[in-house]
Amino acid sequence: PNKSLPQMLKEAIPLYEDKVALYFYGNEITYKKLGEMVDSFTSVLQQEGFKKGERVAIMLPNCPQYAVSYFGILQAGGIVTQLNPMLVDKELEYILNDSGAESIIIFEPLLPVLNQIIDNTSVRQVIKVNLEGRDTEDSMAIGFNEFLKKARKLPDQADINPSEDIAVLQYTGGTTGRSKGAMLTHKNLFANVIQTYEFFKEIIELGKERFLTVIPFFHVYGMTSAMNLPIYTGATNFILPKFELEEVLQTIKDVQPTSFPGVPTMYIALINHPKVEAYGLDSIRICNSGSAPMPVEILRKFEGKTGAKILEGYGLSESSPSTHCNPTFGIRKPGSVGIGLPSTSYKIVDLEEGIRELPSGEIGEVIIKGPQVMKGYWNMPEETDYALRDGWLYTGDIAYMDDDGYLFIIDRKKDLIIASGYNVYPRDVEEIIYEHPAIQEAVVVGIPDPYRGETVKAVVVLKEDMQCDERELIAYCRKNMSAYKVPRVVEFRKELPKTSVGKILRRTIRNESV
Ligand code: ATP
Repeated sequence: PNKSLPQMLKEAIPLYEDKVALYFYGNEITYKKLGEMVDSFTSVLQQEGFKKGERVAIMLPNCPQYAVSYFGILQAGGIVTQLNPMLVDKELEYILNDSGAESIIIFEPLLPVLNQIIDNTSVRQVIKVNLEGRDTEDSMAIGFNEFLKKARKLPDQADINPSEDIAVLQYTGGTTGRSKGAMLTHKNLFANVIQTYEFFKEIIELGKERFLTVIPFFHVYGMTSAMNLPIYTGATNFILPKFELEEVLQTIKDVQPTSFPGVPTMYIALINHPKVEAYGLDSIRICNSGSAPMPVEILRKFEGKTGAKILEGYGLSESSPSTHCNPTFGIRKPGSVGIGLPSTSYKIVDLEEGIRELPSGEIGEVIIKGPQVMKGYWNMPEETDYALRDGWLYTGDIAYMDDDGYLFIIDRKKDLIIASGYNVYPRDVEEIIYEHPAIQEAVVVGIPDPYRGETVKAVVVLKEDMQCDERELIAYCRKNMSAYKVPRVVEFRKELPKTSVGKILRRTIRNESV
């Protein structure tokens, strides 16, 4: 449907009025109350002269104020710039300037970071939020509650064209260079909610689901699958601001969620908890995994221990994000990210020019077309022309498709290791290392080598109380993979650097290894 995101919220309110929409540390916000708070937010923006298309940044961990600000800005016809609370001053300055945001809703403890750079940006208004939900005295920023209290009337309806108007600037991680703002329209985002809902329709009960959300809303996966989808389906969303293992397990036990959108590192942490079975994870009917590859061994162990089924999916910022998932009924293929969501076309093309379509089984770049594909990159026409060709999104991911249309992601084009002329896909090597009983986490990178061009290095974390040394792990790899893939170097660490959504930071590890 050609509708805006605020329309989606407005339609959910009369259906689920007194039901709890958001639950946060004992604080319950019903659908009705959420709607009222969003209206107040929009109203204050409008009273202060807000104009359609203005950018407003949100830099918050998961909390109810996130959803209120997000829908409040959108309802005023504004564009949300999503910011990762872990950004350091220079990165923050870059995104604020690139997007041209004039206001920011920020987590109070992050004010010192903003202070360092605010004078170099166009930010004029700062609204602060703390997790206690109480305003504190401070001259530079207005408290969230105080801001909402300024509302004097119901908001005016902004004139939004869902297929043209940008709702969100979703900045990519920037592994290839400058971080790019993917322009996602209202239609893109709403389409992805509906595509996801249609895909899971057989097991979603409208008005009855309980989501447990730890993945961050500022990340595209959290925004669509863990903030917008729960609203569309009339769910109660139990939100946590970060992944603390004991807290997550206890919450699962207490609220018996039916849906848990997660990422592989979360599932790894859960299965390594000695008493995971005792927490009753089988209430979860939809255990999604996305954003990074799910090692097959972890998927099997998780399911064996908990009885909860993991459905691995795939997507990217540029496609709002979901494009593929394993089905709930029908065939799930471990190691595959599944089939296309409704209205999503995809094909594999040659890696060199991206023109020739390849038959099933052959490896190339996966390209995607569908209503969830972005409008382009903000202020970056050349990058847009490169990523979007003839309406196809070039994902930069190397993959193949099997005869049933299931997609297998092998790696990112930019992570490919070329050792002595052989293509080594880090994921191939990681999958095997994960099968070693002593390994908790593993990442494989290419490091420069004077003879081979590049050589393979593994960086691993051992399970508690388990032992293994470099010689043993290399010998194990020799036995289980072709010689050219075997890591020549193994580094042992206590933990691996991760993004706030829990993705292992391969880029950081590679840089540290050079
Ligand atoms: P950047 O691309 O700039 O590094 P990012 O990692 O934040 O930034 P996202 O859009 O969040 O970018 O991630 C999309 C990428 O994540 C995909 O292109 C793909 O490489 C990877 N990905 C997502 N889901 C899966 C999956 N199930 N298996 C393998 N890779 C996945």
